[in-house]
Parts: sequence; structure tokens; C-alpha cells
Amino acid sequence: MFFHLILTDDCNLCCTYCRGKILSGGVEWCGRDVSVDDQLPPDLCIDLDELYSFLGKDPDPCLTFYGGEPLLRPELIMEIMDNAPPCRFMVQTNGLLLSDLPPDYLRRFETILVSLDGCPDTTDRHRGRGTYRRVMENIGFLERNGFSGELIARMTVGEDVDIAEEVRYLSDNPDHSFRSIHWQLDAEFSGDAGVRDFRNWLDECYNPGIRLLIHEWVERMATGAGVARWYPFLQPAWDLLNGRESGLRCGAGHSNYTIMTDGHIGPCPVMIGMTEYYAGHISRAHPLHLPHIGVESECTRCPIVGFCGGRCLYSQVVRPWPDEMRVAVCDSVKNLMEGLQDALPRIRECIGEGLVRGEDFSHTRYNGCEIIP
Ligand code: SF4
Ligand code: SF4
Repeated sequence: MFFHLILTDDCNLCCTYCRGKILSGGVEWCGRDVSVDDQLPPDLCIDLDELYSFLGKDPDPCLTFYGGEPLLRPELIMEIMDNAPPCRFMVQTNGLLLSDLPPDYLRRFETILVSLDGCPDTTDRHRGRGTYRRVMENIGFLERNGFSGELIARMTVGEDVDIAEEVRYLSDNPDHSFRSIHWQLDAEFSGDAGVRDFRNWLDECYNPGIRLLIHEWVERMATGAGVARWYPFLQPAWDLLNGRESGLRCGAGHSNYTIMTDGHIGPCPVMIGMTEYYAGHISRAHPLHLPHIGVESECTRCPIVGFCGGRCLYSQVVRPWPDEMRVAVCDSVKNLMEGLQDALPRIRECIGEGLVRGEDFSHTRYNGCEIIP
């Protein structure tokens, strides 16, 4: 089972699509009223032995350190890595403090997800001046110290981003060529519908950009460059090739749960304090017998739910955007699906000609990539 562990709500950045959005105004709450536990401690405040005992009941637990910015608590990360039962470790970080962890610990991560939004200008515009350079310096530190796990660049994209250009930049980056890239849309997350130009951007830039990128992804296979680990393509394409359907692709509420700072277990690292959707507490729950958490929504009746999985449990619950904008997000999923379906014959040819193999698509599910942007 996969677990995110929230170490702290604190963060050393104030990104435009995250905390910065709340501070800059224009965000009005318009979603459903969901009760939130406002007594949740800002920092992890649990009996760590209870955590170890909980994880110890799972023969193959995977623990992702999460925040806020989890590397603000390096001593806690080291303590847990030293004392937890056998466990796979991942961390989702803004990358600024990676060098605060000793290399012995960094090398033990199976996966490090680093937030970068593309080229230096785009990343710094969203995340603060100088961020790109500092993150790249730390990635150099990882490489020099023998990190051999998977390093995933995680982008958040909105109306000021040309998705094709930014993915190309990270992929062919002169500082570090990222083989693993994930992106998520800054969409249906907060009450910012009134200040967005989302539909126009989607139609004119994002959806055509996705078609271009799918073409390039497959042409890279055809020229012998292998299967780039562009997560929004990788898993859905492999499932389409194999005729497989999927539940929520992020795993929220069925394969991936989040341990809150007080030890309660929720379905997702964004549904913090949403007690109505909790699945238990680490002191009492069994990691392999957690209740599945889902909601009744139009996703249940959607003809492409087997491809999409429902995209995001949080947005199904909270519904921060009005219906017409929600439909735009669903159109982006349809565009992704149709683009990948169109590419299947060419991918099959590449497999048939031995240019790529089925195992080149293999990846860890529920590793912090939501998959459907
Ligand atoms: S496309 Fe939209 S309605 Fe359909 S499953 Fe995905 S999020 Fe739900
Ligand atoms: S996609 Fe939605 S439900 Fe899944 S982890 Fe992200 S916020 Fe949570």
C-alpha cells in the first residue's frame, strides 16, 4: 500500500498556484461546504512507534514524505528512515533543501519528485526568483552523490504555460535531461474560476500541445530513443494497449492513503482535515484493510471513466469550479484519450519492430503522479 505522510504544513516557498493564489486575492470559496478539522496540528504530532507498528502490518509499504515542504524536517525524515520497518521511501519536494539530507539517506529514496514548471523563466515566475537554479544545483548534488532512483520533474501548468515547449525543455534540458516528467493542470482546485481564462487556453494551447507531445513521444520511440517516462502518457497508453481500465489513477482512497499530522488516515494529501472522508487512525487501522473511499458523482456514469478513473476525488467532493469549467477539464481528458488512441497503431508498430518493449512502459503506480493531469 502507498502512504503519504504529512510532516508539516510549513513551506519555504509561496508558489503562484498554491499559497500565492490565496494571498493574491481573486479566490472566492464557491465549493461545497465540507467540514474540516481546524485543530489538526501544523506539524507531525504522532507516536512514531504507532506509525512503525501500522506500517509493519503491510509486507510492502511505500511511504512518501510530503508537506508543506517535507525537507524542512530533515531530522524527522532520518529518524523515520532509520526506525521504520522495511519500507520503500519517496519524497515530494520543491527541491530547495535536498542537500540538507546526508547522501546516505538520499540514496535510499526509490523516487524523488521535484517540483519544476519548465524552463528557468517559467519556474521562477511561479516559484520565486532563483528557484530553478537552486533546484538544479541540488539535482547536481544528487547525481554527484550517486542517487540512482527515479527523479521525476513535477510541473503545474496553467494559462501562462505552453505545455509542449516546457515538457521539451525539461526533457532535453542542458542542465539535466529529465527522463521522468509529470504535469498536473492548475484546475478545479480552488475558487478561482472567476479570474481564469481556462477554456480559451485549453482550446488554443493546451489541448493542441498535448497532441503535439503525443506525436513527439511516439516519434522518439520510432527513432530508437525508447519510451520517455512522461507520466500522463505512459500509464494510460499502456492500459489502452492492454485493454485495461483504471480506478482513480492517483490511487486516492483505494491504493494510496495519507497519514495526517495527528495520525488519522485520509484518502489524499490534499483532503487534509476532511474528517468525513477519513479511513481510520494509524493506532487502530490495518493498512491492508482500509475502507475504500469514493463518492457518487457524474464520473460514475461517465462513458470514459475506465480511462480517466474520475480524475480527482478532492474535486469531486469539493467541486470548486462551476459546471461549465468542470466540463472543460473533462474535455482535456477526452483530448488526451483520443490522442493516445490515435497513437496506438504507431506504438504497436514500434513494439512489433523491437524498437521498444512492453517492459519499457513499466513504472510504479501511485508514486505521487496523479497521471490524469
Ligand atoms: S472525464 Fe470528467 S466526468 Fe468523466 S470520469 Fe473523468 S473527471 Fe469524471
Ligand atoms: S488527483 Fe485529486 S484526489 Fe488524487 S491525490 Fe491529487 S488532489 Fe487528491
